[in-house]
Amino acid sequence: MQKSITSFFKPKDEISSTDQCPNYDIIIPAILMYDIKELHKHCPMHPGMPLRPMLAQPTKGVHEVLERFSGMHITCEWKYDGERAQIHLNNQGDISIFSRNSENNTAKYPDLIARSKSFLKTNVHSYILDSEIVAWDVERKQILPFQVLSTRKRKNVDIDEIKVQVCVYIFDLLYFNGISLVTKPLSERRMILFENFQEIEGEWKFATALNTDDMDEVQQFLEESIKGNCEGLMVKTLDEEATYEIAKRSRNWLKLKKDYLSNVGDSLDLVIIGGYKGKGRRTGIYGGFLLACYDAENEEYQSICKIGTGFTDEDLKVHSAFLQKHVLSGAKSYFRYDSSLEPDAWFEPVQVWEVKCADLSLSPIHRAAIGIVDNERGISLRFPRFIRIRDDKSPENASDANQIAHMYNSQDQVKNNQKSSNGMDTESDFY
Ligand code: AMP
Repeated sequence: MQKSITSFFKPKDEISSTDQCPNYDIIIPAILMYDIKELHKHCPMHPGMPLRPMLAQPTKGVHEVLERFSGMHITCEWKYDGERAQIHLNNQGDISIFSRNSENNTAKYPDLIARSKSFLKTNVHSYILDSEIVAWDVERKQILPFQVLSTRKRKNVDIDEIKVQVCVYIFDLLYFNGISLVTKPLSERRMILFENFQEIEGEWKFATALNTDDMDEVQQFLEESIKGNCEGLMVKTLDEEATYEIAKRSRNWLKLKKDYLSNVGDSLDLVIIGGYKGKGRRTGIYGGFLLACYDAENEEYQSICKIGTGFTDEDLKVHSAFLQKHVLSGAKSYFRYDSSLEPDAWFEPVQVWEVKCADLSLSPIHRAAIGIVDNERGISLRFPRFIRIRDDKSPENASDANQIAHMYNSQDQVKNNQKSSNGMDTESDFY
């Protein structure tokens, strides 16, 4: 019902009257007075009147982000685990705070109202902000879990009795100084936000964001978000298809949650057989490595992935110093790999690393488990990251080819027999 009314009031390329002004006391008299095509002009957005928020689509992992947003400008924001808050200021100076379900939460946050002038940078007289309120540990200067926020009183809150402090993480600006911004792309909305509002430590912050379409950086940013006590990332379009879609679970916002990090639940234990010289900050040490599984049947090490993620700078120094002692003059006859993977140094198979990954895919260049799942292709890891050294395992006890084939076949997407192009490895998956 809602849908048909909404589209009825929605001229092509315009935002619907019921979305921007969800109030029938305003809409019905306007219908009686104006042409239906002009209705949206007579039922504008009003600070003080909550808009139904834009929502995100879930994803199963970075590969889905890559598929959806290929070739588009995107931004990743930390996904805070708190309470959605649409904060409105109207021309009369009244502030209102609305929940995800458009309930009026203003009385719950007198502390935010009291400090609401501090984050204005310019002459701001009206706005609608989209944000997440999170519980904040003032001493440790860090985000606290949602459970802490949920202990906060909901009604008749006395500012002097507040025990759980909060910080607001702002991620969008829908309306500013009398003008609706929802039809502008996120990059522009964000620019207006940054120009007119300022961060105050522990009180008002902009959502931590990274504009990148490099999936390795997305992966690393996801891990950082988890370390920062967040749930994962929200990945959003910046320029094309980047308007704020009121009341919609949009494909232009994808959520990438930490559960995905354990998508391939089991970790793998792999042997380092090669090293690639580092660049930039990693100059002088190895910045990436070639890993292999062990195939007991053929008594060979089969390449499975290149890895350059999950290491601290200190880790890399330690690994480089250790592996330097085991450099070979060339590859062993029992290393199975494609010549395109030739590393800067080959190592004796002496150490095992525990590695996690987003998923396993068929690869035209890696050789792990070749002949078990596919005659021509091996299996490789997508978005592998280093977890720790397995001193307790010898290289011949590393994950073997059969185990890897089993892990590959156990994945939901393989079980569901998804189209084979999803399973192909590409150069961009390296590291
Ligand atoms: P979910 O509740 O899992 O569907 O995730 C969507 C919710 O994440 C939104 O309704 C917001 O409350 C919250 N959220 C946290 N951080 C952000 C962000 N940077 N952008 C958008 N939503 C966010």
